[in-house]
Order: sequence, then C-alpha cells, then structure tokens
Amino acid sequence: MTRPGSLKKPSCRFRKIATAFLPSCYSEISIMRTFFLILFLLILVPIMALFFMSATPVVTLPSSLTALGQSTPITINVSDPHGIRIAVATVEQNGSSYKVWDMEQPSRRLRWRRGVADAAYTFNAGARTTPQLRDGKARLVVEATSNDFRGKTVSSEREVTVVTRPPSVSVDSDQHYLYLGMADLVTFNVSGYASESGVRVGDEKFRSWPMPGGKPGLFSLFAFAWNMPAATPPLVYATDPAGNEVTGQMVYEFPKKDQPKYRVRDLQLDDKFVQKVVNELDPSGSGDPVERFVKINSEMRRANNKTLADLRLKTADHFLWSQPFRQQSNSKVEANFADVRNYIYQGKKIDQQVHLGYDLSITQHVGVEATNDGRVVYAAPLGIYGNCIVVDHGYGLQSIYGHLSEIEVHEGDMVKRGQIMGKSGMTGMAGGDHIHFSMQLEGIQIDPKEWWDAHWIKDHIAKRVDLPGFNN
Ligand SMILES: [Zn+2]
Repeated sequence: MTRPGSLKKPSCRFRKIATAFLPSCYSEISIMRTFFLILFLLILVPIMALFFMSATPVVTLPSSLTALGQSTPITINVSDPHGIRIAVATVEQNGSSYKVWDMEQPSRRLRWRRGVADAAYTFNAGARTTPQLRDGKARLVVEATSNDFRGKTVSSEREVTVVTRPPSVSVDSDQHYLYLGMADLVTFNVSGYASESGVRVGDEKFRSWPMPGGKPGLFSLFAFAWNMPAATPPLVYATDPAGNEVTGQMVYEFPKKDQPKYRVRDLQLDDKFVQKVVNELDPSGSGDPVERFVKINSEMRRANNKTLADLRLKTADHFLWSQPFRQQSNSKVEANFADVRNYIYQGKKIDQQVHLGYDLSITQHVGVEATNDGRVVYAAPLGIYGNCIVVDHGYGLQSIYGHLSEIEVHEGDMVKRGQIMGKSGMTGMAGGDHIHFSMQLEGIQIDPKEWWDAHWIKDHIAKRVDLPGFNN
C-alpha cells in the first residue's frame, strides 16, 4: 500500500500558495487536486469561454450565379457578428485552383467587435482575369474566416459553367407565313453552349425541343398571338448561362390581306343569365349582381386563363398524336376565335372581353370528344369555363373543353382521338348547352382551325420534323 506521503509532491512554492488558502486538515492529495482545479478554472475555463463565444460566419452566393463569362460580377454576402478576418474566392477546374479574389482585415483574436452588420462584397471572375479557365464545368469556392478568438473558417461553393464565347444560331431557310392567333414551326441549330433557346415573339417565349427521332438540331412550335402587333418579328434566340443572348432571323411574311378579321359582337345580358352566373360562380358574395358579374367576367376570367396557361408545364416532350385534329362531330361553330364581345345590360355596355375559342353547340348533353390523342392534364371545375377538361398533345400544344355537365376522365388518363370524355352542358359562364373548345400553345390560346386541317399539318409540321403517321 502506498502512503499518500510517498507521492511526488508539487513544488514547495505551489504547496505554500495552496495550503495558505486551505484548512490544515487537507491531505496533500486533496491539495494537489484543488490546485489543479483552480488552475483549470483560472486558465482553461476562460479559453473555453472565448472559444464558445466565437462566431461562425455564413457565406451566401447569389442564387442566379450559374456561369462565368469573360468577367462576371459576383456579389457575395457574408454574415458574422464578429466580422471577417479573411475571405478568399477560388475557381477550381480540371484539378487546378485559381484565386480570383481575397480580402484581409487586422486580426482581433481577443478584443473582437460585436454586432458587426452583414457585408456584401463584389468581385469579378472569368476568363479575362483567369486565362487558364476553359469552357465547361468549374467550381467557385468562397471561404471566410471569423475575426475572433477561434477564427472559424467556413466555405460555400457553387457548380458553374465557364462560357467564354456566346452561342450562335442558324435558322432554317423556309418561308414562314404568320397569321394572327395561329401557330407555326421553325427548325434551327445552336452551336456553342446555350442554357436556353427557342422563339420569342414580342414578350412571349416558346421553348425549343430536340428534333424528334434523334436527328440533329432543335425546333420550336410558336404562336403569333391574336393580340400581337402586326410588325412584331419572331426571333429565334439562344442564351448562354452567362446571360449573353444571340438571335437569328427567320424568313417570314405577314400576308396582310389574309389576316383573320375579328368580329365585334354585342351580347345582351338579362337578369336571369346574370343571376345564374353570379349564383354559380360567386355563391357567397353579396352586393349588386351586375357588378359581381363584371368582376367574375374580368378577374375570374383572368385567373382561370392563368391556370390554363400554367398547364404548359405539364406537357410531353414528344408528339402524342399521329393524325390531324378533329372537330367535334356534327358541331356548328357559333362563335369565331378572338371575337370581341360587348356585354350589354339594359342598353348599356358594362364590359368587353375577347372570346378565345369556339362555341360548338350540338344537342344537349352530347358526348364531348377528344380532338386528338393525348393525356388529360386537367379535369375539374374552372370558374367561367365550368367543368373543364384540358388534354395535352405534347410539345406545349393542348386542347380545352369547357361548360361540361359531366366529366368522365381523370387527370393523367390517356385519351384517344374521338374518345368521349364527358357530356356538354352549361356550367360556368354559359347561357345554353354548348362546348367551349379552344387550343393553346405554350399557354397562348390559338385558333384551332389550322390543326383541324391535314394539309396545314403536312406543310407546316410534318415537312419540317418527323411526325409519325405523316410521312411525306
Ligand atoms: Zn365559349
């Protein structure tokens, strides 16, 4: 057994200091333990406290940053209550790392600042300042070190594409005839790196798609909207991730005399119709029925058209059809596409809207036929359209059927050309039993009549892209 007295003793001076503060009954081991405890409290606790009081910086890269061009400005945000001692930005590519920016502040290990506001730093990075960069993938890494005791370093990184040259586009040499409210197809090639391409008409954009059948090149189906100013040129465009845009001209003509002429028609409203619409579409509302009708006709119409337009995102990346579109059997067109309607109540014009479709009336509760093969992307009530079905035919082309009394399909169902999908009716803003039929391309409502014409499809679609069933 070892007696306590035989342990190695702390040096004489420390013993004296320790024993001075402790009762004499403490053994030497207790004195040693107490001594180390005091040492721990005096030195380690403050160090640990400084350590844990230190901050962790947060570096935020701009969400829009996807590419580096010749000299791309980048603004980073750094958040650290104690400020930043060092920040460094590097670009890594093919196993090499290039410093593109750095900054340093005087070190404040013990007397650091508090409540330092978030800071934004802007620097440029790209091929001009770092000529070693090549077109292709790279990684931007930003490191920041907190200006306090611990000096914690964090990094934030982003995959980017280095693009030193803008892409170029070459457009087909076909003559494109443009008509208000109608569609066309253009083929083109994009060389270089493009993140986005397609056709732009005014402020409306139409996506590009890879040519079907694995052929090289791209194509876009595009519309010249019913309300587009006649002089608006359709442009093929390509944008690279650095934001450079190039455009290509297509050969086009806007045959003046053959343009559709939209009619202006007066629609007489009676109390019975106003009441029917208001009761059905605004059942919990109160106030003047005519005012409520006008609100439904404008605001709800706009919201419903937005819902329809948003369905463009639910489109197939291939043709779902292989025959011309067909008009509803035995139907008579009661209204032209883009007719302007004046709403007249008690001799006064109370509203004006454009009717973007055909009203097809047959008999009551007739079976509503799919205009072509496709997939149901909407089958539910939709405000002024009443019970509504939307069928996607691929590449952003969709058909719309409104005012149904019954819907017999579900979202996701594949339907065949001529298949009965429900029954006609007068739900929504309809005064009598009919089918409101319309088509849209990338969410822009277009005149369906071209799509009912096999010759037009052959000349404008099948001649330019592989369309199964339309081989020339
Ligand atoms: Zn209609």
